[in-house]
Amino acid sequence: MHPIAEKRLRKGALPTIFCSGCGHGTVLNAFLRAVDPPEIFDSLALVGGIGCSGWTPVFVDTDAMHTLHGRALAVATGLKLAAPDRKVVVFTGDGDCMSIGGNHFMHAARRNIDMTVIMMNNRIYGMTGGQTAPTTPLDSRTQTSPYGNAEPDIDACRVAEACGATYIARWTSAHPRGITRAVREGLEHPGFAFIEVMVQCPTQAGRYMYGTADSARLLKMIKQAAVPKSRAQGMSEEEMAGRFAIGLLHRSDDRPELTRGLAELNQRAAGEGR
Ligand code: SF4
Ligand code: MG
Repeated sequence: MHPIAEKRLRKGALPTIFCSGCGHGTVLNAFLRAVDPPEIFDSLALVGGIGCSGWTPVFVDTDAMHTLHGRALAVATGLKLAAPDRKVVVFTGDGDCMSIGGNHFMHAARRNIDMTVIMMNNRIYGMTGGQTAPTTPLDSRTQTSPYGNAEPDIDACRVAEACGATYIARWTSAHPRGITRAVREGLEHPGFAFIEVMVQCPTQAGRYMYGTADSARLLKMIKQAAVPKSRAQGMSEEEMAGRFAIGLLHRSDDRPELTRGLAELNQRAAGEGR
């Protein structure tokens, strides 16, 4: 076992529930590299939603909460307000975050609350058996769309930006260094940081949507679809069809952060004797 894994994984919870060849393992690996320094690791508080990705915090040997479907951000918001010194990180899936959790996502981003959200996007409901998710591309075949998906997919990064997130990055499981860098930047960023990671799911998305459970082939497909942001900006909508931009997509410092805003409000209220 790698020394960082040896030091930071919760041994009693192993093996992970991830299928062989799943991209979630790469995300966990890249995350551990980012948070290994003790000054970061000792201040972490991890929250997971429901789905394969939601299990990720359970495998890290630190304070972790495994919550309800779609509610990870609601729990994480309460946690951050109660313990503003903790570095709160949420692990969520595309179904968990964009479907049942979409409303919580919208408002956490709007509030610009200081936390880092890692959304592992396999473009399908993996754990529950391969159903269509809001991120499933149009015309894709899944267990619930055997003749093709009639719905266009949602772009989570654009939703995050529209709602007010102040750090947004997208990487893939073929870019582990990019994930590590984004996690570090997200943790340092004093506001709502959203990191989308496109991951291969050989068991569900692979078999039904892409016609192969070969994780190496799926990883190659994801890598080929990823376009660095600087290049994507010069490409037309037609050229970008079926592709997505990767890298740091958005960063701003022009919105107030919720926990600091509330602390100031409390001070003002105390000063006015309320
Ligand atoms: Fe990974 Fe898919 Fe297996 Fe879930 S079902 S652990 S996303 S390969
Ligand atoms: Mg999913």
